[in-house]
Amino acid sequence: MAPKRSYSLETELVLSKSTDQYNASVPPLYQSATFKQPSLSNMGEYDYTRSGNPTRTYLQNHLAKVMKATHTYAVTSGMGCLDVITRLLKPGDEVIAGDDLYGGTHRLLTYLHKKGDVKLGHYDTTDTELIKSKITTSTKMIFLESPTNPLIKVVDVRSIAQYAHQVNPDVIVVFDNTMMSPVLMTPLDLGVDIQYESATKYLNGHHDIMAGVLATRSDKLAEQLFFVINSTGCGLSPFDSWLLCRGLRTLAIRVERQQQNCSKIAEFLQNIGFKVRYPGLKSHPQHELHNSMCRGYGGVLSFETGSIKISEKIVESTEIFGIAVSFGCVNSLISMPCKMSHASIDAKTREERALPEDLIRLCIGIENCDDLIDDLHKALLKSGAVKVNERDELFNAVGIEAKL
Ligand SMILES: *Cc1c(COP(=O)(O)O)cnc(C)c1O
Repeated sequence: MAPKRSYSLETELVLSKSTDQYNASVPPLYQSATFKQPSLSNMGEYDYTRSGNPTRTYLQNHLAKVMKATHTYAVTSGMGCLDVITRLLKPGDEVIAGDDLYGGTHRLLTYLHKKGDVKLGHYDTTDTELIKSKITTSTKMIFLESPTNPLIKVVDVRSIAQYAHQVNPDVIVVFDNTMMSPVLMTPLDLGVDIQYESATKYLNGHHDIMAGVLATRSDKLAEQLFFVINSTGCGLSPFDSWLLCRGLRTLAIRVERQQQNCSKIAEFLQNIGFKVRYPGLKSHPQHELHNSMCRGYGGVLSFETGSIKISEKIVESTEIFGIAVSFGCVNSLISMPCKMSHASIDAKTREERALPEDLIRLCIGIENCDDLIDDLHKALLKSGAVKVNERDELFNAVGIEAKL
């Protein structure tokens, strides 16, 4: 059963329902490793922060509403979530994963595969029929991500989750929702069993903590996830939980602005003639599929220039855009995935997966959009990617559907 929210998402995000004894208007920070017990026969609600902490509990309850989950856990990073989830697997279990997953996800799953812990198959998850043909009664877990980055491939999550459960009711469909955030997508409504995301990105939004969030509607899975978190000690620290509570309050407004900026920049680059990947563009081959699952398009796009040298020059010529990995922060970033976030995937595999070496990824923040476009335009001129000096000539709106 899908839990019901009392209010719309924007309201839930800022609503503070603390049971603090002094009615503090923000959740109190319990920076304490242990908790004294009233007596030996009367143990309190908390005893040790690895197992539970009131600030983390507050955050988790808040996130459960936002993610429409019945159980939510906050851990030390997005990859920490994946580690917790993969510990539910048994030796030799069969696992299906997308071939364009986050680089760190690819690294951990491949490590488990090489060690012989799991039998892993990587497939193009945009090919729904191919994925269906690979799902058997022995498939134990399926890892999906949509849209992927930097290739912005969209996966038919609903169909795959439904089919997988039909074939094997015990299969665990896992979905990484880092790219959309709960503002734009509710994967649990599409039939996935466990959703996780890197809270380092949109959820916190300020690049001052690392965190990950796990969510499910299954009591059984929740119990197993909590067992691992409590046993390994990867629960999010009280202070980072407190900071994440603060970041979450502005999530909706940040994502909305990032998306507005990103849509305009996608149009700008497409008008110049670059091959732009952004799910909001009508030219995106899976624009409609994306619309059927999400409430918007997010703040990440990628584009090809046709030349590695030119791409390098562009990346090194921007002033507002910082050269950095990651996304979802209030400030804009630029990167070349093949040299940075995806360098952990070897060149041969990158080629097999058609990851263009000249690809530039832009992660858009909340700055003034004209400033961002001016900055990009200057970098494009400097790199020789464009010759026209008149910015406005390059920028005639092509249709992006306004969603938010
Ligand atoms: C960043 C990221 C992760 C990993 O999260 P960390 O918090 O960096 O560990 C996982 N998936 C996606 C899609 C990401 O972008």
